Amino acid sequence: MLKPTQCVHEGTIRSRIHQGVNSPIFTSTSAGYIDPEADALVYPRHFNMPNQKAVVDKLCALENGEAGLIFSSGMAAISTTLFALLQKGDHAVFQNDLYGGTYHHAAFNLQKYGIDYTFVDAKNLEAVEEAIQSNTRLIYIETPSNPLLKITDIAAVAAIAKRRNLVSVIDNTFATPINQNPLDLGMDIVIHSGTKYLGGHSDICCGAVITSCEIAKRIESCAHQLGGSLNASTCYLLERSLKTLALRVTRQNENALLISQYLQGCPQIETVYYPGLENHNGHELAARQMVGFGGMLSFELKLNSKSNAVSVKENSRRFLTHLQLIRPATSLGGVETIVCIPADTSHVEVPPKEKETMGIKDQLLRFSAGIEDPNDLISDIEQALKSF
Ligand SMILES: *Cc1c(COP(=O)(O)O)cnc(C)c1O
Repeated sequence: MLKPTQCVHEGTIRSRIHQGVNSPIFTSTSAGYIDPEADALVYPRHFNMPNQKAVVDKLCALENGEAGLIFSSGMAAISTTLFALLQKGDHAVFQNDLYGGTYHHAAFNLQKYGIDYTFVDAKNLEAVEEAIQSNTRLIYIETPSNPLLKITDIAAVAAIAKRRNLVSVIDNTFATPINQNPLDLGMDIVIHSGTKYLGGHSDICCGAVITSCEIAKRIESCAHQLGGSLNASTCYLLERSLKTLALRVTRQNENALLISQYLQGCPQIETVYYPGLENHNGHELAARQMVGFGGMLSFELKLNSKSNAVSVKENSRRFLTHLQLIRPATSLGGVETIVCIPADTSHVEVPPKEKETMGIKDQLLRFSAGIEDPNDLISDIEQALKSF
């Protein structure tokens, strides 16, 4: 089956009661256990409820994984995975431009439990090799990265991990399983914040881990105690959303490319960051390891002399207030196009000096392309650039 078909059909629970085409929602937290055929006690926090399994089956099909777990948030998936696979005295290598929550977990929580870490520029494979110590157990990457859409060579990192006997983990949230399948490139574990593209309608919070049966078992035993499971109703909403994942993401890929191309030709725009543009420094690599280039893009806005803004930040904020259709909002991956100033939102807590080295300027805007008609989106940007 191809992706759009898998999105619709994989994992669906066939109801024997009325032959419904959708999975029923199983809410019971208490279940009979005196059944010689049952091999485990069914309980939400044991990650083995029917609606949890239906979503896992669909995601395993989409990511070519053997097994997985559905969590109550992306961070529950990430923190549980790291706690399950690392212990006191271990060391992990993390890509340096990670999602903020993951960065904080690595830098503050893991350390409290005696787990050491190194952050590296994962584009530099020699630096990745050099960061590996005798007690290193795991490498963690995220590509495309937030918010500059930097591309890491997934197959190369996976090969290093294999050679050095480390577990390799990737946060595949930005790409989605429609655009990128890291397990096929040799990674051991794929993590998603389902709150973004998988949920896709900006109305549910969830996360997922897809991996091998062996690794899933190791994560599961820790997950039982940490307890970040997802309830049946939200699992059902996630399953419903996933049916249109391929449709949505294909449109978001197209919209992001069209918006990027438009912005590139605007005199008010300095630099556009989108892996689908030929002048993006990760374009060739992205073309090799991705099917589509994703729905995320960012760009730098030039200071507008007629806007009377007193600072670069205010100039960016002023531009946002002139957009009529595209909402300035946090998060990403929904059907609606949204925009934010990372220096004000995802990176607000990063000290100015660090922000500068990361390349996150006050004039940087991040777009999450939705599924609207691209002409409406471009018209909105056009009128805002004219009037701000
Ligand atoms: C949002 C996000 C997370 C965290 O997910 P939550 O569902 O908010 O816990 C992790 N990684 C990436 C890339 C994200 O965008």
